[in-house]
Amino acid sequence: MDTISHAIHAIEKKGRCKINNQAIDSIRSKKAFLCDMDGVIYHGNNLLPGAMDFVEWLAREDKKFLFLTNSSERSPMELQQKLARLGLEVDESHFYTSALATAAFVKNQSPGCTAYVIGEAGLFNALYEAGIMPNDVSPDYVIVGETKNYNYQNILRAVKLVQNGAKLIGTNPDLTGPTEDGIVPACRALVSPIELTTGRHAYYVGKPNPFMMRNGKRILDCRASEMAIIGDRMDTDIIAGIESEIDTVLVLSGVSSIETVKNFSYSPKYIFESVGFVKDFKCN
Ligand SMILES: [Mg+2]
Repeated sequence: MDTISHAIHAIEKKGRCKINNQAIDSIRSKKAFLCDMDGVIYHGNNLLPGAMDFVEWLAREDKKFLFLTNSSERSPMELQQKLARLGLEVDESHFYTSALATAAFVKNQSPGCTAYVIGEAGLFNALYEAGIMPNDVSPDYVIVGETKNYNYQNILRAVKLVQNGAKLIGTNPDLTGPTEDGIVPACRALVSPIELTTGRHAYYVGKPNPFMMRNGKRILDCRASEMAIIGDRMDTDIIAGIESEIDTVLVLSGVSSIETVKNFSYSPKYIFESVGFVKDFKCN
């Protein structure tokens, strides 16, 4: 039985404790976890089922872990505060955002460079910490992340600067993002007018770019075989794990269903209903 039919069977028969014990054992034995947040730990301002058990289990078992998010708006401190409001105590060192990955990428490419930035504090802070200074006249880069401060004037400026030779970077390739108010434009949708007007394609740093995975691995100081990635999206979390040779866990608490999985030419190694699978193990 392949992974997908295994998961369908498990869910339909409500017999996951029995059927998935081997999978749960294998995941539980990992030393380190890269874990997506939206659709896995929370949705908007609501904690998802099993998230509390999962975070408590990580701490109790002394696992290494990093929460990865493609969202570039918030700093690790803001993410830590958001989880605290939801009742989860996690140190800010356990968060890694596409803004941090973008800052690391640009610093690696061109140390001491300058950038015109369209984004929120999470992105500005990450770039500043990496020594990348703002410049809205003749920058080396135009860097775009999600922001509510997006308007025609900053699109015009970005277009002009890219036409003058600045390199165009997007913090992540997400086209849309889920919010409590419905679907909203995400980074790629905001970069799109600049790409279309200039004829230049942006380079996107966040998941599924393996650059973010490799940095995560480096931070956790583990080999790929010792790690698992947990996420709710096939096109970012799961493909990023597969391309980085990290075991993949798809949870169905976010955007994906079993039907979604069938539309892709690759499969996650394991599928669970939520990160509560660590608690399911107890009923063995
Ligand atoms: Mg997600």
